Amino acid sequence: MMEKKKKTKKIKDKKEELEFKPKHIAELSSKIQIEADKYTQKYINFLNNCKTERETIKYIQQIATKYGYKRFDKNINYKPGDKIYFNIKNKSIILSTIGNSQLSNGTCIVASHVDSPRIDLKTKPLYSDSELAMFKTHYYGGIKKHHWITIPLALHGVIAGKNEKVIEVIIGEPSDDTTFCITDLLPHLDRMNDRERMWGEVIAGEQLNVIAGSLPFKEKNENSDAKFSILKLLNKKYNITEEDLICADLSLVPAFNAKNIGLDKSLIGGYGQDDKVCVYASLMAELQTKNNKQTTISVFTDREEIGSDGNTGLASDMLKNYLMMLCKMDINMYLECVENSICLSADVKAAFDPTWAHAYERNNCAYLNHGICISRYTGGGGKAGTSEARAEFTRRIVNTLNKNKIAWQTSSNKVDQGGGGTVARFIANLGIEVIDIGVPILSMHSPYEIVSKLDAYMMLKAISAFLM
Ligand code: MN
Ligand code: MN
Repeated sequence: MMEKKKKTKKIKDKKEELEFKPKHIAELSSKIQIEADKYTQKYINFLNNCKTERETIKYIQQIATKYGYKRFDKNINYKPGDKIYFNIKNKSIILSTIGNSQLSNGTCIVASHVDSPRIDLKTKPLYSDSELAMFKTHYYGGIKKHHWITIPLALHGVIAGKNEKVIEVIIGEPSDDTTFCITDLLPHLDRMNDRERMWGEVIAGEQLNVIAGSLPFKEKNENSDAKFSILKLLNKKYNITEEDLICADLSLVPAFNAKNIGLDKSLIGGYGQDDKVCVYASLMAELQTKNNKQTTISVFTDREEIGSDGNTGLASDMLKNYLMMLCKMDINMYLECVENSICLSADVKAAFDPTWAHAYERNNCAYLNHGICISRYTGGGGKAGTSEARAEFTRRIVNTLNKNKIAWQTSSNKVDQGGGGTVARFIANLGIEVIDIGVPILSMHSPYEIVSKLDAYMMLKAISAFLM
């Protein structure tokens, strides 16, 4: 009898075969740079038109409608290929393309967030001090406060007027419109102990006061308070009074546009790229989805920057409710759907910054131009405040990325250095397999965040591969 030849395992003996060492994306192909340039031109335009969560949701709903998405109706029996959107109070939105497979076989979820750190006006913001009209503010999200002073700011948001009609406000865009500003003390007068202040103390939250105007109120026999000249201007422009400012969502955001950075134009600087770089990739991938096996659930959520609390954040039941409605309130179908659903939590990751190298662990941090980052967990010291992707699910995602030739790396925070959470844990708490993937970013949460065009484009490719 012939003896069966035993299969011999091929032993890997080359360094590059044994080691996981992501390369600079530009070294992988030259075609990809052209594609990335084309993609990011449109992305820059999106950034400049979507500075707040409401503007982003409006943009997403408009473009989705153009692509044939219809408002979700829980009474309709959707069929494969149908495209729907579920708007949550104009501050979050979910887009879906119904898949060929039944919902009990699970969905493919991508969650990114549309809110970014900013300076909100207080509920009763306007006051005057020493002939200046000023706004009191309360910042939103985690900021280094000194980044937000002495830069041009634009006022974005809505005012719910007395007739309950919503007035949209944008002051400070386009670039020749008037702007706002938070002042700082000149260096000449900022001596004494002031120079030794920690960054958290350079300016206090209650000192983030914004100049709104400086001309006196000109009516006869009236108080010449600057506050009233501003109220008069607001009344003329929007037909509102001070009470209407209480019924308003008004935020100050950087008044400048996104631009290329570097002589080679390889990077993009702009406000709100956390997390618009993932929002745009997720949106473009969702719009292009067709003949998909599993139903897509592209979630664009509000409130991530303050911990996802509130009725438009992912700590609420909004995703659960949507899945329940898709499952026609059939609890068995819902439970199976959740059991079999998988999710990418798409959010930016801190990129290694050589100037601040001490804050990173070089073996486990993200590098610009090295592709999308996989983070199995985020959170702080002792892996607190985070979910963690299981080994098996991590392998599944890694295989998808490898199969589709997507440049990827891994990233986790330096132990005990700090670190924030993402929406991943809220989705994981529903019982869904989740992993964080994201684009490396410099100067995160500053008014001018920086990403690489190649990484931004890679994110589109990664999400598209996931949704297929
Ligand atoms: Mn984020
Ligand atoms: Mn953030």
